[in-house]
Amino acid sequence: MPQDEASLIPDEPIPFSEMCSIIHSRITTFLAETPADWNCTDKEKKRLENVQAQTRISLRVIEEALEKYSLDELSLSYNGGKDCLVLLVLYLAALHSKTLKSSNFRPTSLECVFIQSSDPFEEVTKFVEKTSRQYNLNLSRYSAPMKGALTDYLQEKPNVQAIFVGTRRTDPHGTYLTHFDRTDHGWPDFMRIHPVIDWHYVDIWTFICHLKIPYCCLYDQGYTSLGGTRDTHPNPKLLRIKLPETIENGKYTHLPDIWKNTSKYRPAWELMDDEEERLGRDN
Ligand code: FAD
Repeated sequence: MPQDEASLIPDEPIPFSEMCSIIHSRITTFLAETPADWNCTDKEKKRLENVQAQTRISLRVIEEALEKYSLDELSLSYNGGKDCLVLLVLYLAALHSKTLKSSNFRPTSLECVFIQSSDPFEEVTKFVEKTSRQYNLNLSRYSAPMKGALTDYLQEKPNVQAIFVGTRRTDPHGTYLTHFDRTDHGWPDFMRIHPVIDWHYVDIWTFICHLKIPYCCLYDQGYTSLGGTRDTHPNPKLLRIKLPETIENGKYTHLPDIWKNTSKYRPAWELMDDEEERLGRDN
């Protein structure tokens, strides 16, 4: 999806309630669409139908969380990656649904926690900053190992009882998770909520592209899973073409234009297979 296409929400911040309403309306429209509305192949239509089903499940999980917990007891772990971005958008839509049902529910921002990697990508940091403003996130940032950062966070925000996490089944540690799981022994104690646990890699990108959700630019450069600069590379499965070494070293000056202007890697959303998602990660 070229990033300059009209996107789901404006670049500049708008009032929180208006933003939730726009997102809710877009998702409601998406859920009402039928294959006849889509101008794509049968395979892509099947994918969109599957994403509709996953979206309904995730919204139900988020709605259940909003019944069990008050808004100041909930937080979202947000690192600018594609999975928690999808989760964030669904959460904002669910908030709007709740405002339609209860007249005294009027959220104005969203509690989030971001634990910055020790070797962060500038692009990720900028994306988190930009989207924090755009989506009006009340973001607490930490630069420490994850367990310690979460311990500090809960001390600073003692109301928080449950945290949304964008983990999916094929992530490390994702195999046995359900929609609601307390943290494991040895971790600070709170409820983890995993609304997108059963989304596949291709579902995440189908949703992002169909709804035109702005995403971190590294995904356009072949990165498919974002860690730190020391352990994350573009996914080798997305390498367009192996250029001869002389060309890579810049010794060949008469490159065809198509090579000069094209990224060496295809964008993240062209990968299809869950198993290949982390091939650009060293751990
Ligand atoms: P990703 O696939 O990028 O992360 C999956 C999701 O984790 C993201 O969508 C986001 O919601 C969250 N996340 C990841 N990194 C960050 C970050 N730096 N800042 C904010 N959010 C982030 N491990 C256990 O073994 N037992 C636990 O009980 C446990 N509880 C956790 C609770 C929370 C709130 C978080 C954020 C992590 C927890 N972890 C726990 C660690 C988790 O299992 C992963 O190891 C960790 O999220 C990194 O996953 P990943 O590399 O697959 O990243």
